[in-house]
Amino acid sequence: MHTQHRPTPSTSTDHGSPGTAVVVGASLSGLMSALTLARTGVRVTMIERSTDTGRTGAALHAPDGLLERITGFDASQVPQPLTPGIQTWFAVHAALRAAIETSPLIELRQNTTVSKVSQDAHSATVTTSTGQKISADIVIGADGHRSTVRQHISPENPDATFAGYVIWIGIADETAINHHWWPTDVAFLGGGRDTLLGYPLPGADGSLTPGRRRLGWAWYDSSRNDLLRSSGSVKGSVVRHSLMPAGIPNTTYRELAAQAQTLFPAPWSQAILDSIERRQVIGTPIAEYVPTRLTRDRVTIIGDAAHVPTPMTGRGFAESLYDAEALAEAIADRGTTPMALHAYENARLRSARSLVQSGQNFSRSFARRSA
Ligand SMILES: Cc1cc2nc3c(=O)[nH]c(=O)nc-3n(C[C@H](O)[C@H](O)[C@H](O)COP(=O)(O)OP(=O)(O)OC[C@H]3O[C@@H](n4cnc5c(N)ncnc54)[C@H](O)[C@@H]3O)c2cc1C
Repeated sequence: MHTQHRPTPSTSTDHGSPGTAVVVGASLSGLMSALTLARTGVRVTMIERSTDTGRTGAALHAPDGLLERITGFDASQVPQPLTPGIQTWFAVHAALRAAIETSPLIELRQNTTVSKVSQDAHSATVTTSTGQKISADIVIGADGHRSTVRQHISPENPDATFAGYVIWIGIADETAINHHWWPTDVAFLGGGRDTLLGYPLPGADGSLTPGRRRLGWAWYDSSRNDLLRSSGSVKGSVVRHSLMPAGIPNTTYRELAAQAQTLFPAPWSQAILDSIERRQVIGTPIAEYVPTRLTRDRVTIIGDAAHVPTPMTGRGFAESLYDAEALAEAIADRGTTPMALHAYENARLRSARSLVQSGQNFSRSFARRSA
């Protein structure tokens, strides 16, 4: 049986009361958007398909003071980065999750997948995979690079496309590595078909002492597109999923281990070998999406649903934050109305497009090196 749920009576089609929103996706963009909207008084229902949105190994560039600004927490309550501006995905996610727990205006429903979005003159509605309908004044798609909400907004340009390479990512404890010096900053190594980004991170216990921290690494590899296709990770020009640790063949692990030792210096090569030994490596095929629009009347997209740049830009997360801020500002001015969502699109579309296009120059030349 189909049920219809409405978070609160919708009253803000005219500017004047805070109104309601459904946010699809409760990862970083969705959490930031829910928090900034709740600050303007909007009642938010978040829909998240998984219970675990963790992404092993990814590090993020988070501008100084960012988490304080978005969460409203004071600086002593948010994790301090070891390298200025670099945070782990987990630290940022945990701080945002803790912040939404404190908001009476935000309801989070996990294990719920949105399969369709629709709208009429008065409200927008998501339909879940079990047939439940949830309506609000507006729907915000924060559902990542394979966004379902984007299909409703841009049916003529619905998919992010494969950029031609994979990033292998992992994190190793310095205590597991036998080495005599420890990096103090982000390192860019290699070139040609293989580029490595290495970054020191606090230890699992928060330790900042060299030798007791962790080393994160991201290896850009344009030579394994056959594996991505044969595993179904990439189909045609569309990225379907990452290669999780158990899905990476043993032969690939062995090849990566051999290559790491010749391509990259210690302690980065050792960090890679340690991650490989523990089978704690994820392969993320990189997708890119240049948006043609961000909004259709009562439905809009933010974060990776709106723009997918190569991680080489280092700006995907910060850009998602600016989306959340611009959207909240437009809604504070014009309510949860189509006018507000169009103001948000006007504020953000150009910047979103130029971010992705700037990364495409890198991607095209990097992917060509394997051809
Ligand atoms: C390997 C890698 C490295 C990166 N490195 C950097 C970096 O150094 N610096 C930087 O700034 N950015 C980086 N990024 C980008 C950054 O991680 C993202 O821009 C940022 O996390 C915003 O993601 P998001 O919340 O928009 O989307 P996602 O993290 O993809 O979240 C989407 C959420 O929506 C949920 N969802 C999807 N579909 C549905 C549905 N139909 N129904 C319900 N829920 C759904 C998913 O389960 C998920 O929780 C990197 C990305 C990758 C892949």
